[in-house]
Amino acid sequence: MNPVFDALPTTVFETMSRLAQAHGAINLGQGFPDDPGPADVREAAARALVDGPNQYPPMMGLPALRHAIAAHYARHQGLALDPDTEVMVTSGATEALAGALLALIEPGDEVVLFAPMYDAYLPLVRRAGGVPRIVNLAPPAFRLDEAALAQAFSDRTKLVLLNNPLNPSATLFGRDDLALLARFCCRHEVIALCDEVWEHVVFDGARHLPLMAFPGMRERTVKIGSAGKIFSLTGWKVGFVTAEARLMRVLAKAHQFLTFTTPPNLQAAVASGLAKDEAWFEAMRAGYARSRDRLAAGLAVRGFTVLPAAATWFLNIDIRPLGATDDVAFCEALVTRHGVAAIPVSAFYPDGGMRHLVRLCFAKADGTLDAALDRMAGVA
Ligand code: PMP
Ligand code: GLN
Repeated sequence: MNPVFDALPTTVFETMSRLAQAHGAINLGQGFPDDPGPADVREAAARALVDGPNQYPPMMGLPALRHAIAAHYARHQGLALDPDTEVMVTSGATEALAGALLALIEPGDEVVLFAPMYDAYLPLVRRAGGVPRIVNLAPPAFRLDEAALAQAFSDRTKLVLLNNPLNPSATLFGRDDLALLARFCCRHEVIALCDEVWEHVVFDGARHLPLMAFPGMRERTVKIGSAGKIFSLTGWKVGFVTAEARLMRVLAKAHQFLTFTTPPNLQAAVASGLAKDEAWFEAMRAGYARSRDRLAAGLAVRGFTVLPAAATWFLNIDIRPLGATDDVAFCEALVTRHGVAAIPVSAFYPDGGMRHLVRLCFAKADGTLDAALDRMAGVA
């Protein structure tokens, strides 16, 4: 057994979902929506499953999907990607992350990470032999800071891993943050692995900017997306990676021995979904923004302190005004005594240091949110 993985706890998402089930709780913990996803996309998957083909699709992904991804990013983000050499389909963003870290890091390479960070990052970096250099982002703004970057980057830095928009803080990094990071990447000749799975779930008229589009970044950025987030279909695990052909050749070597490919019917359906018009994307965002506002307002009325949420399906509450000092204990009590599951944000900090924030998923039907709010009424 290897010491890195042997010592790991079970991921907080699985743990909290199990607790939610055991206690009959409303699950605002793990990020998955009540929305079943667009009917036409699900029907396209069903048709493709029945009609076939159901044999191995090409290793890099169905041509129809690779072309749809390139066209989608051209339309939404102004990127010019070659669908034949710069796009690869993976089994979720998770496979893309694991493959990229395996493919790009050699033992001893330094990897810059930002906390809070998605819980998969650090174990994967360590298992690939990377030496983590962690930059703590300060709440409530969670912005990148030049002095902190200067401390973290060095001649040994091989890669920086950025999640934008950022889960769990719901921060959208904008032009200034990204330009700053791009300057560091270019100066130190670093590869940027950019987990942009939340790129479409941004609110209040803001637009997501891909790091890849910044000066000097086209040839050094690996961009990751996920159909699970775009179409509210988290169980499908269809992800995609885009990168310059030189990088993609190496990424493909990891992918070929991790999963090799992804179910063809799901790929075909995602290809049809990516062609949806701007109105569909606007409506999707508006729907989630309404849910965010409903939960935020309901929490505020009940005495909770709610942090701003510019993107994702999550908002955070600060539990200090409630006299609470331990987010894990707070979430345990919330699920066992009050019947609402949430995620302690300390799970996103490698040293567990940040103990005062709790993440709630608002991607739920109004009735689910209202029922959860009722249950939380006695907490604050
Ligand atoms: N990265 C981030 C930041 C996420 O929030 C998630 C899932 N919520 C993933 C990766 C995993 O995506 P997938 O389900 O496509 O593997
Ligand atoms: N990414 C999802 C979240 O942040 C959970 C994914 C998972 O359960 N592995 O809630």
